[in-house]
Amino acid sequence: MTREIICTNCPIGCPLTVEFEDGKILSITGNTCKNGITFGTNEVLCPKRTITTIVKMENRSGMLPVKSASELPKERIFEFMAIINKVTAKAPVRCGDVIISDIGGTGIDIVATKTVE
Ligand code: SF4
Repeated sequence: MTREIICTNCPIGCPLTVEFEDGKILSITGNTCKNGITFGTNEVLCPKRTITTIVKMENRSGMLPVKSASELPKERIFEFMAIINKVTAKAPVRCGDVIISDIGGTGIDIVATKTVE
């Protein structure tokens, strides 16, 4: 099988052609640097994404911006969003505070990206 993807590792955005079969990469072309090989491999075999979203505040108006501390498996994003959407944050919150620990058993936290006094 072949997939055409854009490497988003840097602003150049090289168009990659990834050939794969039975969970193995056969070839990757179109990359300008070796990071494109890593990107193309991960994107086809185990795609991951950083979640950036907002949660409700309990004792303040408005929403608190949050993100995953690192990338999460893309195929579970809806599961993670369902967990995040049930959570509220209570001020004061510092940027970097853990809002959800170990989301979905991944070992990755959802953290605040803004301080709210
Ligand atoms: S292959 Fe290298 S140069 Fe091209 S977009 Fe990816 S990181 Fe940038």
